[in-house]
This record gives sequence, structure tokens and C-alpha cells, in this order.
Amino acid sequence: MDEKTANRGMSRRELLEAVGKAAAVSAALPPLIESALGSSGTVAAQAAPLTSVAGVDRIVMLQGKTYLNGWAGYGRPPARDWERERGAPVPPSPPVPGPAPTAAWSKDSGPGAVTFADANRLVTTATFSAPGAYVLRLTVDNGESKASSTLNVVVETPPPPTPLDGVHTRKYRIDSPLWSNRAKALMVSWIPHCIDQINRTDLQQGPGGIDNFVEAGKALAGQPHGNHKGYVFSNAWVHQTVEAMSIALVIDPRGDPDIIRAHEKMRATLEDWIPKILSAQEPDGYLQTAFTLPRVNARGVVDPGPFERWTRRGDHEGYTAGYFIESAINHYVMTGGKDARLYSAARKLADCWCNNIGPAPKRTWYDGHQEMEQALVRFGRFVNETEGGGKGQKYIQLAKFLLDSRANGSEYDQSYLPVVQQYEAVGHAVRAVYTYSGMADIAAETGDVDYQSAVMSIWDNLVNRKYYVTGGVGSGETSEGFGPDYSLRNNAYCESCSSCGEIFFQWKMNLLYHDARYADLYEETLYNALLGATDLEGRNFYYTNPLDANAPRTSWHNCPCCVGNIPRTLLMLPTWMYARAADGIYVNLFIGSTVTVENVAGTDVQMVQATDYPWNGKMSITVNPKTPGRFGIRIRVPNRNVSRLYVGAPDSSGIASVAVNGSAVKLEIDRGYCVITRDWKAGDRIDLVLPLKVQRVRATEKIAADRGRVALRYGPLVYNIEKVDQDITQALGPASALTTEWRGDLLGGVTVVKGTFADGSPLTAIPNFARYNRNPAEAPKPQSPYGAGAGGRPAPRPPTSIVWIKEQSPGT
Ligand SMILES: [Zn+2]
Repeated sequence: MDEKTANRGMSRRELLEAVGKAAAVSAALPPLIESALGSSGTVAAQAAPLTSVAGVDRIVMLQGKTYLNGWAGYGRPPARDWERERGAPVPPSPPVPGPAPTAAWSKDSGPGAVTFADANRLVTTATFSAPGAYVLRLTVDNGESKASSTLNVVVETPPPPTPLDGVHTRKYRIDSPLWSNRAKALMVSWIPHCIDQINRTDLQQGPGGIDNFVEAGKALAGQPHGNHKGYVFSNAWVHQTVEAMSIALVIDPRGDPDIIRAHEKMRATLEDWIPKILSAQEPDGYLQTAFTLPRVNARGVVDPGPFERWTRRGDHEGYTAGYFIESAINHYVMTGGKDARLYSAARKLADCWCNNIGPAPKRTWYDGHQEMEQALVRFGRFVNETEGGGKGQKYIQLAKFLLDSRANGSEYDQSYLPVVQQYEAVGHAVRAVYTYSGMADIAAETGDVDYQSAVMSIWDNLVNRKYYVTGGVGSGETSEGFGPDYSLRNNAYCESCSSCGEIFFQWKMNLLYHDARYADLYEETLYNALLGATDLEGRNFYYTNPLDANAPRTSWHNCPCCVGNIPRTLLMLPTWMYARAADGIYVNLFIGSTVTVENVAGTDVQMVQATDYPWNGKMSITVNPKTPGRFGIRIRVPNRNVSRLYVGAPDSSGIASVAVNGSAVKLEIDRGYCVITRDWKAGDRIDLVLPLKVQRVRATEKIAADRGRVALRYGPLVYNIEKVDQDITQALGPASALTTEWRGDLLGGVTVVKGTFADGSPLTAIPNFARYNRNPAEAPKPQSPYGAGAGGRPAPRPPTSIVWIKEQSPGT
């Protein structure tokens, strides 16, 4: 029986509760007592038992403050998103008699002094005099009884004052058996498929491609025109595919005729689409065809509009605008700045937003679905770089304004509190990680300590309580979103877009903190949550990526997302591989490739990685500076156990050896990087070996879904077992040996992990990214974009491909 059912049978009790958590509840919300009411509503005379709820832990920067949003009341505290049925309103709260309690904040423990702005107010702030771990206490007292709860706060020193610079994805070459094949599938199959779908005007599922721009162009020219098709944000199909094409076109085809043919198609498509997109831009720069064309609702009724801009939170204006701006950046980079059509249009669009949104007398606004925030920061930096004179700053300021405007809303879209008072990953997972990615941008751009504290707290909550071993996020216990701490069911939601956003977020944390652990995390997400979003042939994709899989990928979707986000993110390898500081280069990923990192210590440096990683841990990096010079190269020392939720054994972190031009180098580690500072000249070579071992990964006992189970990992790759190879309900013996074997014939060439189940039958595990590529006979089951909530998913059926394998307990 669940708690709710149990409470219904009780007579009425008055529960005085104190909740010392900021992120969890707003003081403005009324207390909920529905579940404490008996069916008869009679009041029992029994004494009220006191209950307290632990706070959500958080991190605060030493110079900053932490926002305390305590809650005290009778009955249950306000319900969190995951405690309600999907879409259900907050139950009404009848007035509860009882004396108003007084509140008092105090310090239980901690190395320094704590100063409360007002220790007797539930909603207040605290500052700290020294770094370290603190416990704060909130006590409430109604004259008859007391209740209290505690909150753990860790005080840290802020990140370095100057963030690292991101590296643009310009012309580069991939020489990696794994990545060459993956990139080729995206370029010759997936992106051309997206182009064809977007060009179609007859799609029943997922309509509204380039035709929306054509019709909007006609409308703006005063000509007869059609209605808007598809979701209000269907423009995202087009923008993301433009960006994916722009990135694909900077990848050296290495003479491959298939890739050359695909590139030709992309170039022709851009020439066809760009004038159509531009024709739909309104004279003042606004661009969103659902606001320009009449719309048809679900019942087929036409609403001619006009639709007032920036009044409809659910209409994704910022979402589509942001993707347009990002596509323009990559298009401009791809053409080497020679074709500024999209860039200029993006400038116009961003200016239109700047002219209308901002402090009074302009409009206060935030979009229900984030994306504009991180796009505006990216654009602001890019404009600063290309045009100078701080011309991009206004876009960064607007991004901060959009984030700061979030308030008085819901957990679902991260507007339940001002973002700087949020310390927990909540709500719709894509919206969430896009918010956090934008917040990390603002923390880096402004040095705002409230942003830094919130970002680090959310990061800690996400990575150490709400993170899958695949690097995916979003359990689906709220609508497409996060559940409570440690609640990580394996029929997870893990939308492909949330994997993209998770990579963006961790990458920005890497730039902010100059720390390799964030790159460890995005490598994990890249290989295990995102790389397998499309099948090996690049013909079908996953909208959601549960760890217990039982459905094949599908070729298209109703929802205009994921399909373009997957290739644009996967193909931006130089950006994920390297970062740049004034005094050197950071090597974040190990992928056979040739990439030029520009403007390092006064020169451009071509970096040539030769490696078969992740199949082999050996690699060499040839460093070719245009002119010889002294700078540092920092090579990420992999840490496979960044999230405290999972531990892999045996240990497979670290670098086994490193040498420069054949001479061993003493490992000097700083923030997770091996630092080699010297005079570099063209042809200098770094050789290194990363240890690759098959690991058994076990989850903390707090994750109920993974108890008695083990995941297998080899280097950065998480493995899974499929029904097509074995009975996946079997248990692995705790001591059975696990080995690897290269199988060139299997799944395009993969290293498999081999072992034996407890009953002696063989186990074969494949990399998770290659899952579900051998079940063509199975009928596709449509995936619901609203899957996780009540009524959203088809009836569950047993998984046929799993990450967490049963493990026989020792001694049985
Ligand atoms: Zn998506």
C-alpha cells in the first residue's frame, strides 16, 4: 500500500512540519492536508506527531549566499511534481486550524560562522565565513510543540575568474574506425533522410517542414498562402537540420564518394532553403512561422491569429529562435565567413528580441521551453569574436534577463523559483538541462556568485542523485522529466535531446572550472546515451533511450526535436575534443582525427590524434604549431567514477604512461589533466596509454532499480546484453571472469565483453550504443513523446536489451 492510500484510512491528524529546503517548496504555496484527512473528516483528539523533512543539499560559493525557503505548516508540505498524477492540479488545501508557528534558523555544525539575513523568517538567506561542510537547522514552534529539519550546505571557493574558450567546429578530419563509421552514417543516411522529410508536404506524422517557411514568405509578401502545419515549434526541424548540414560540411570526406554525394545534396539544400527561410522573416527580424501563418488546432479549426508575440509561454518562440541563431553560427563558420546571409538574419532576429524584451519599459518574458538563453550567449560570444567592440554583450545580457525572469511558475519548466534560488534538477529534462547550460554560461560570463552557487548545486544534485550510468538524464516520473533523488528506474525517459543538453551543460562546466571531471561526464553521455540514438545505418532514431529497451527505433516522429539535435551534437567533435586557454590547449576527448585549434599562445596548432580508442587505449598526439612556441598541453586523465552513484571495479581510471618524442614524462596532474608545458615545434609527438579494463559497475544501494544488478563497462563504453544473444534474465556469477574480444563481423566492428552466467551458459555483451540493431523482424512500437506519465505509454512488455544485469549474490 502506498503512503497516500494508508493516510486515507486515518482520522485527521495535525502534522506540524518544517521543511528547510529551498528548491523543494516555495513559502508562498499553501499547505496540503488532503492526504491527512479521514474520509469522514472528523477530527481526532490525539496529539499531533511531529514530522520533519530533510532539506535538499546544496553548494554555495564562499563569497555568495544561499537562499533559504523554509516551509512550516500543518499537514503535508506542498507536493512535488513527481508526487502528483501527471497534469493533475495541486489539490485544494482547506484551512487548517492551529496557532501560527514561529521560525528560527541556526547552525548545527560547520567550520565557520553563519550569518542569517533574518534568522526568524522562513524565507531568508545565509552567508558563510569559511569553506567546508555545514549543517543548518530550521526549528518551528507553535507554543505547544516543535518540529525541526536540517539542511546540509557545502561552502566552496568559486571557479577561476576566466573561463576556457570553446573551440569552433571548423574543417576537420576523422580517422577513427568507430567515429568514421558513425559520422558517415549520419552524413550519408540520417541527414539526407531529415532533408527529404522536411521537404515533404504530405507528411501525416511530424509535418511542417520547409513548407511552413514558404507559406509564411507568401503571407508576408501579401500572396495567398496555406496554414501553419505541425506543432507550433515545427520550425525546429529546419533550423537543426541546417545546423547539422553546416557541421557535416566541414568534415573532410576523405575521398569517400558516398560522403561527397551527401555533401553535394547538403550544399544544394542549403541554397534551396536559405532564401525560403529568409523570406519568412518579418520586417523587424522576428522569425517563427507559427506566429505569421494561421494555425490549425487539433480539431481542425483554423485560428487566423494574429498571435501576440511573447504572451504564450507554450509556443516555443525562444526555442525556435535559439535554434535558428545556433544554425546561423555554424553556417557562417562553415563558409569561412563568406556567406553571412543566415548570420545577418540571426543578428536581426536577436536584435528584435533585444528591442522588445528587457527591463521596463520593455517586456518581461521567459519562454516555456528554454534554448534561446544558451543560443544568445553563444551568439554574443561569436559576435564579440567576429565583430569586436563588445557588440555581442547585449545578447548575453538578454540571455541573463530571460533566465532572471523565470519565477512564479512550475517545476515543469524550471520557473517555480528564480533560477538563482534553484538547487535541484527538476521538471522536463530537456528544458532543465538547457536552463542549466544557459545558467553555466551566465556564471562564466558574469562571475555572478549566485549563479555559480545555483549551477554547482544543480550539477551536484543531477550528477550525484539523478544520473544514469549511461550519462542519460530524466527518469520520466514527471512529464518527460526528472523524478526524486535516487529514483532511477530503468525504463527511463532519457530523451535524446536531454543527452545533448547534458553534454552542453557539462562542457560549459568544463570551460568554467577548467576541470576534467566534466569532460569525463560528457564523454560518458556522448558514447552511451547519445551515440546510439540512431541505428548503425543512420536510418532510424530513438526519441527516448531507456536502459531497459524493448522497442526498435523509428524513422520519424511527431515532435520537432531530437532528429536534428542528434547529428548536430554528435558531429561537433572538435568542440568537444579541445578547449583553449591563453597559455595552452586542453585535450578532452580521444578520437582519431586532425583538428586545428586556433589562437594558442599566438599561433594555430594542428592536433593530430592517431588512435583506435575506445577499442584500444594506445594513442599518439602529434602537435603541429604553425610557428614553434611555448605553451601547455593538458591531457584529460580519465576518471571513470565521477558520479558518486556508481563505482566500477577494477579501477580503470588514469593514464598508464605518457611520453614526449619517445621520452617518458613524469605525470603532473592538475584538475584532472596531465600537464605538459614545453617549447613545441611541428612534429612533436605525445604517446600515451589509457588503461582499458572490463569493469563491473555497481550502483549505490539508494537506487532501488539497480539493487542486485551490475553493469559492464570497458573504457568509456557501457555495455548491455540482448535477448538476441542470450537469456537476459539470467544472473552473472559474482566472480566469473570477463574478457574482451574484437568482433569485426559484428555490428560494424565492436569489442564484445564475454563471460559466463551463473549456470555456466555464455554471456555476450555489446556496447550500449550498438543496441537494437539486430531485431528487424520485430514490429516497431510507436514511442510516445509524452511517454512517462500516466496513460502516455503502451503497456509495458519485458525488456529485450538491458544495461543492468542480474548478479548472483556471493555465497549463493
Ligand atoms: Zn528531443
